[in-house]
Order: sequence, then C-alpha cells, then structure tokens
Amino acid sequence: MSIVSDLQTSQQSPLVTKYDVVVVGAGPYGLTTAAHLIGKGLKVGVFGKPMELWRNHMPVGMYLRSHWWATNLSDPRKKYSFERYFQLNKLEKPYPVPMSVFLDYAMWFQKNAVPEVDETYVASVDRQDGQFVLTLEDGRIVQATAVVMAIGVYYYTRRPEEFRLFPKELVSHAFDHSDYSQFQGKHLLVVGGGQSAVEYAALLLEDGGVEDVHLVARHKINWLERDRSAERSWREKIAEPNAGIAPGWTNWALEYLPYLFHRFPQVRKDRYIRSNYQAAAAAWLRDRVIGKVNIHEKTSITEMKTQDDGIDVTLSDGQKLHVDHVLLGTGYEVHLSQLSMLSPALSKQIKSDQDIPILNPWFESSVPGLYFVGLSAVRSFGPLYRFVVGAHASGRRVASATARFAARRK
Ligand SMILES: Cc1cc2nc3c(=O)[nH]c(=O)nc-3n(C[C@H](O)[C@H](O)[C@H](O)COP(=O)(O)OP(=O)(O)OC[C@H]3O[C@@H](n4cnc5c(N)ncnc54)[C@H](O)[C@@H]3O)c2cc1C
Repeated sequence: MSIVSDLQTSQQSPLVTKYDVVVVGAGPYGLTTAAHLIGKGLKVGVFGKPMELWRNHMPVGMYLRSHWWATNLSDPRKKYSFERYFQLNKLEKPYPVPMSVFLDYAMWFQKNAVPEVDETYVASVDRQDGQFVLTLEDGRIVQATAVVMAIGVYYYTRRPEEFRLFPKELVSHAFDHSDYSQFQGKHLLVVGGGQSAVEYAALLLEDGGVEDVHLVARHKINWLERDRSAERSWREKIAEPNAGIAPGWTNWALEYLPYLFHRFPQVRKDRYIRSNYQAAAAAWLRDRVIGKVNIHEKTSITEMKTQDDGIDVTLSDGQKLHVDHVLLGTGYEVHLSQLSMLSPALSKQIKSDQDIPILNPWFESSVPGLYFVGLSAVRSFGPLYRFVVGAHASGRRVASATARFAARRK
C-alpha cells in the first residue's frame, strides 16, 4: 500500500492536500513560476520562505550587481513589474539597486501575484503511482501531479575541501550570515574574488566594524567596466546591445532566445560557461576596497592552523597572517546528491551528469513531471538562469509544460 492510501485509511491520518503542481521554493524563480502556473488556472502549492535568501543570507547593506530592469519577477499579465512598483511608490530608479529596494519589490510581487505561500519547508519528495508525495517539515503530506524544484542556491554552498574540517565559528560561508555584528573589532580573511567576496569585504569594513580585512583571490580580480548603459550612443548599443547579464550580443541572445543554448552539445556549453562567465566585481566596488582592504590577488591559502585565539594562515606568496575568522565567498556549485529532501528512490531515477540533473527543453528531468529551475538549470540552459533575469523565461516555459503534463494526467 502507498504512503498516501496508508494515511487515508488510518484513523488519525492528516488530510492529504492535492495539487496539480507543487513549487518547492519561494525565491524569484519559485514565485515567478508559481505566478505563471496560477495564470494557467492550475491548483498550485508553493512551499518555502518568500525571498529567504535575500532576507536571511545576504548582508543588509548590499547592492545588486544587476540593473533594476534585469531583476523583474514575472507574472502572466505583466501587472507586477519592478517598473510598476517604482511608479506606484513614486520612487526613483536607482543604480546600483539597494538590496532592500529589490526585496521590498519582490515581497510586494509575492503578496499580489502569489498570495498563498506556505512557509513550511518540504522535508521529502517521493513518487508513487505516477504522483509525487511530499512530506512537509511539520508532518503534513501533500500530493502533486508535478513538482518544480526552485530551491535556488540552497544546498549548493561551495566549501572547498581544505576548509571543511574547521568549525563554523572559525570558518564559515557567506551564506551563513546576513548580520556581521559578531565580527566587530575582529581580524577577518575573506576568500574569493567575485562580486560577493569583494562586496562582503567592503561591507565588513564599512558596516561590520571589523579591525581589518584581507581578501585572498586565486586570480586577479576581474573588475567590470563602469556602467554606462544610460549614456551609451546608438552606435555603441548596436555594437553591444544592453542585456540583463551584461552588454553584448551573446548576452542579448541568451536573454531573447532563452532556450537556444539548450540545443548545443554539452561539451560546447561547458566550455562556453567556463571561459565566459568567470567571477567578476562591479566597478562601483573599486573605491570601497582598494587601499582599504588588504587584497592578495593571484594568491591561495597553503596552510591554516587553529590557535586558541583564531587561525594562523600561510599564503602561497609566503606571507603569514593571524585572523579571527575566515569567511568563504566561494560561491555555489550544483550537486544533486546534496538535495537531501529527494527520496533515495526518486534520486536514483533522475539522470544526471557530474551530479547535475540533465534537463529536457522544458526544464524537466528524466522523471516525468519533475522540473528544475534557477541555478540547477544553468548547465543545461546557460548563464541567464543564474540571475533573476532568467526567471521570466523559465517561469513561462515550465508553466506551459506543466499545464500540458497535468492535463494529460487528469
Ligand atoms: C550574494 C549574492 C548576490 C546576488 N546578486 C544578484 C544580483 O545582483 N542579480 C541577480 O540577478 N542575481 C543575483 N544573485 C543570484 C540569486 O541567487 C538568484 O538570481 C536568485 O535569488 C535565484 O532565485 P531562486 O528562486 O532560484 O532561489 P533563491 O532565491 O535561492 O530561493 C530559494 C528558495 O527555496 C526555499 N527553500 C529552500 N529549501 C527548501 C525546502 N526544503 N522546502 C521548501 N523551500 C525551500 C527558500 O526558502 C527560498 O524561498 C545573487 C546571489 C548571491 C548569493
């Protein structure tokens, strides 16, 4: 007998709620996909904490690297765009966009476009008799014809091997913090050379009240050009059109032909992502770190030793530092095996390559009705889906596919 029928026949069984689709996650991708699914008239369950990554795992004073026009959440009637939010609230369109402004916009989107979000986490996802059975963290069971995994960067923090043995009090990932007050008066070392690492280093000094910050990056920091999108001539725009990721025809094509990338052979896609989308930092961060943060470029950590009062660190250029804490700005890496909520039986059915789900042109995995959006889809669909700007295309695509799928199953 299945879990669901077991529960239905049991005297004290919790009620099993049935949905056409369950969206796991309520970040930009989950909310956008849900808005498009609701627009199709489907019965949609959305689980997860709205904009949790931005509320609880990013530093309060952060600015977005993306423009406001590249951070729209999308609904089928285009009623809840960032533009409309600015108009309704009589706000100027800022650059760079403060994270708090984007967050307020996204929460307004959620309240209007996806008003019913259940903040309970999904503890497990299984599949029985062609239906998905999800157990929530509070023990409730829900059933769905299709499931969209919109878990974003959760479960994917990249903690390089050499740092894993240290306790979190000494070595933590940027994902573990939104408030840096615990580091006041301390000596910090930030690892990484991308936007987050550089911005964290700046914020630790400016708002965190730390004594000093060292930034250790394997490569030279790849500074992006100063943003000139508002002042570019038409000639420049023809040569390199504005696009959500960054100006240029390739980025434009990724955005306006958002499913084309999927058609290329995987080796070419991998090569393209590797060589074109390396970590980079916005130009407006330069003055906030140069001459203020101790920057060690083209350097790595060769040794770390725990002491009673912190960590002794040796760098590849021979320098020795003593710091109170090491903060990893080392990003995120998709590993299907880290999605602990997928039952072992279901995990086994998901075809993967390098521990990353293989997706068909509809963002669907090899398990019929199980979709992945956001970071999990980048290797199949390209770098657009690493950013909020990709939410519109995947939301529309997944909603169409799921509506067809659910209709066939009725
Ligand atoms: C520091 C930093 C800065 C960034 N800056 C930018 C930027 O400027 N521009 C840009 O476009 N992108 C930026 N990004 C990328 C950003 O992460 C994505 O664009 C966007 O947040 C992805 O949205 P998402 O919905 O896929 O996932 P997330 O925003 O990661 O949301 C994941 C959701 O899953 C939920 N969840 C997790 N586990 C469960 C579970 N078991 N059950 C139910 N729900 C669950 C969470 O509660 C959350 O609601 C940045 C990322 C970081 C880390």
